[in-house]
Amino acid sequence: MQEKEQGQLYLCATPIGNLEDITFRVLNTLKEVDLIAAEDTRHSIKLLNHFEIKTPMTSYHEYNKVEKAKYLVQRMQMGENIALVTDAGTPAISDPGEELVRQCHEAGVKVTSLPGACAAVTALTLSGLPTRRFCFEAFLPSDKKEKQEILEELKDETRTIILYEAPHRLKKTLQECLEVLGNRKMTLLRELTKKHETVFLTTIEDAIAKYEVEEPKGECVLVIEGMSRKEKKEKELESFREISVQEHYEGYLKQGMDSKAAMKQVAKDRNVGKREIYQILLQAKEEESVES
Ligand code: SAM
Repeated sequence: MQEKEQGQLYLCATPIGNLEDITFRVLNTLKEVDLIAAEDTRHSIKLLNHFEIKTPMTSYHEYNKVEKAKYLVQRMQMGENIALVTDAGTPAISDPGEELVRQCHEAGVKVTSLPGACAAVTALTLSGLPTRRFCFEAFLPSDKKEKQEILEELKDETRTIILYEAPHRLKKTLQECLEVLGNRKMTLLRELTKKHETVFLTTIEDAIAKYEVEEPKGECVLVIEGMSRKEKKEKELESFREISVQEHYEGYLKQGMDSKAAMKQVAKDRNVGKREIYQILLQAKEEESVES
């Protein structure tokens, strides 16, 4: 008997607000697959009803993602085609899709992604901030220490920063961003693709002031400008100036660099010539030998 061919997983991007933001390919796939795995079946049924799609659904969410992924992978290995949809946007971007994709790859089950709406990209394109280089942090963690660590990492980030946030945590997050990143330009984008879409070009401080007098409403994305390269260089230079040339040089030797490379690096870090560093180190050595 001929063995049945394996099925595959289709990651299907769904609208982030406006129902017209769905592709023909996604609609056809949702109609043709054997099963739709949905983050919240009660939410996705509205989308399926709107487009008269009758394919059966099963739930796949944060709390069953590991076990349920195993079950879904087995079904695909037995020949079924499965589509994954989440509450909004592109599956696996800040939602449980990532785990299912990982397990499919591990099991040798084919995965394909049907592109469409994604809040992060939509927000970035509308932000008016540099779009060429960006980093996406999704939601900052709720654990205070972890959140602080990530913000510290973002402090020197020169790329545009994209964050997701829920309205009830927005004020706190803005305050924490201000404390660590300092005041910066930012764009706050709410209710993207919906009737009341708003694009608020502001600064972190002004956004805080705004939400002191009104309650944040609606889903939002924060796009924050990165630190300028010039400012980063100046900050680095300042931190090197806090240590002596000798300490700086010895730090590199401890990291395993040879003397020539360490001297070259110190000169580069401090934005001075190699000869100058050589003279300072030589003088320090001479002073040391006089003292001993
Ligand atoms: N997978 C989704 C995507 O591709 O964008 C993201 C899912 S994540 C669980 C939900 C977050 O995305 C929200 O809290 C909000 O930060 C952002 N988001 C989703 N839809 C949005 C919209 N219409 N306007 C603004 N932000 C939105």
